[in-house]
Amino acid sequence: MIENRSSLSFWERQTYFEGVDLLIVGAGIVGLNSARAAQQLKPNWKILVVDRGRILPYGASTRNAGFACFGSMTELLEDLKNSPEKEVFDLVQKRWEGLQKLRAVLGDDNLGYEELGGYELFTPQEEEIWKDCLDKMDGFNQQLTYISGMKNTYQKASSEIDKFGFAGVKNLIKNVGEGQIDTGKMMKSLLSLVRNKNIEVLNGIEIKGWHLKEDCLLVETANGFSIPTQQLLITTNAFAKQLLPDALVEPGRAQVLITKPIHQLKVKGTFHYEKGYYYFRNVGDRILFGGGRNLDFKTENTFEFGLTSTVQDHLEKLLSTMILPNQPLEIDQRWSGIMGLGPVKSSIIKRVEERICCAVRMGGMGVAIGTQVGEDAAHLVCD
Ligand SMILES: Cc1cc2nc3c(=O)[nH]c(=O)nc-3n(C[C@H](O)[C@H](O)[C@H](O)COP(=O)(O)OP(=O)(O)OC[C@H]3O[C@@H](n4cnc5c(N)ncnc54)[C@H](O)[C@@H]3O)c2cc1C
Repeated sequence: MIENRSSLSFWERQTYFEGVDLLIVGAGIVGLNSARAAQQLKPNWKILVVDRGRILPYGASTRNAGFACFGSMTELLEDLKNSPEKEVFDLVQKRWEGLQKLRAVLGDDNLGYEELGGYELFTPQEEEIWKDCLDKMDGFNQQLTYISGMKNTYQKASSEIDKFGFAGVKNLIKNVGEGQIDTGKMMKSLLSLVRNKNIEVLNGIEIKGWHLKEDCLLVETANGFSIPTQQLLITTNAFAKQLLPDALVEPGRAQVLITKPIHQLKVKGTFHYEKGYYYFRNVGDRILFGGGRNLDFKTENTFEFGLTSTVQDHLEKLLSTMILPNQPLEIDQRWSGIMGLGPVKSSIIKRVEERICCAVRMGGMGVAIGTQVGEDAAHLVCD
């Protein structure tokens, strides 16, 4: 028997894997936007995007909650404890502008974008932080006016609690600029856009490492063949450390559930609770509910997808006691995704070594910043 390790034909090798100018690892929102933007900057480049997901990309971009959000008040108050004011609001600006860019690139219809407003819930035990929010509201609103032009972005909305039917909730703050998207539609549209530009996106290819040759980088796959490329861009987010051991990126698993359709669902919009550790929204007449990583940070610091009863039981409890009390409901599906987290919230976009760049660590805000991060990464590679 004569060995053909890669099992690729001459045609397959020549068409897909030879003469690559830019190889992008990771077909999430960042990888695909990098490809889109790089193609604009270098129309003659052969760009290839690969992802190890076998059917679909296996990252956070197709598994998230679809909040088009730029910061709830308690999240920003928490950030201000760790970072200077300018840094905190610069990030709000990045998220806001990133969302406008996402909408401009794909269009609201293709995103399933709806601006139903975002809300933050406060229980009676959270009186202190509620008061703190009220104290800071005018100042935050001024900052948001500079950023977005909107007036009174954050508003007291406790009178709306009954409208939603929540139990055990004493106060609400509304964010009038917050929206929601259909995550599936977003990624499908983005993938079509990229493929229509003649950029190849291949699943089922896992990158294991690389070495420099005189005139290129030889990138090794787990599939038994190598891909020669001029430039390599790593957009593997939470999994960055598997290829770049020095990267300051930790995996943070996030678990989610979604209910079956609920008759006359009153809850519409996006909702944050407990400094953003819990989040829920309507998806049509269902509720998508996620979070609870704070119940067991250690277990959720993992590269493994999966569900735990600690988190799922708590999500179900909050769902039936606080969000949809006294209402019959059934859980339709549960899943998890892995976020890329770090000591600070900003993402890492940098040249790692000759011919290699990375754009990773999107935290819980990749929907908001991913489009711009992709563009920034493309400039870094192409310039
Ligand atoms: C449950 C959940 C809810 C979220 N909710 C929101 C939200 O409401 N709003 C918001 O803004 N953000 C949210 N996020 C965060 C957001 O989804 C992410 O920040 C964003 O999707 C990251 O995009 P990315 O392209 O950087 O990475 P990813 O989408 O994670 O893509 C990385 C890709 O790299 C691939 N890969 C990894 N290693 C290799 C390798 N060695 N070889 C080949 N391929 C590889 C993976 O298969 C993966 O597809 C949420 C995240 C989760 C998990």
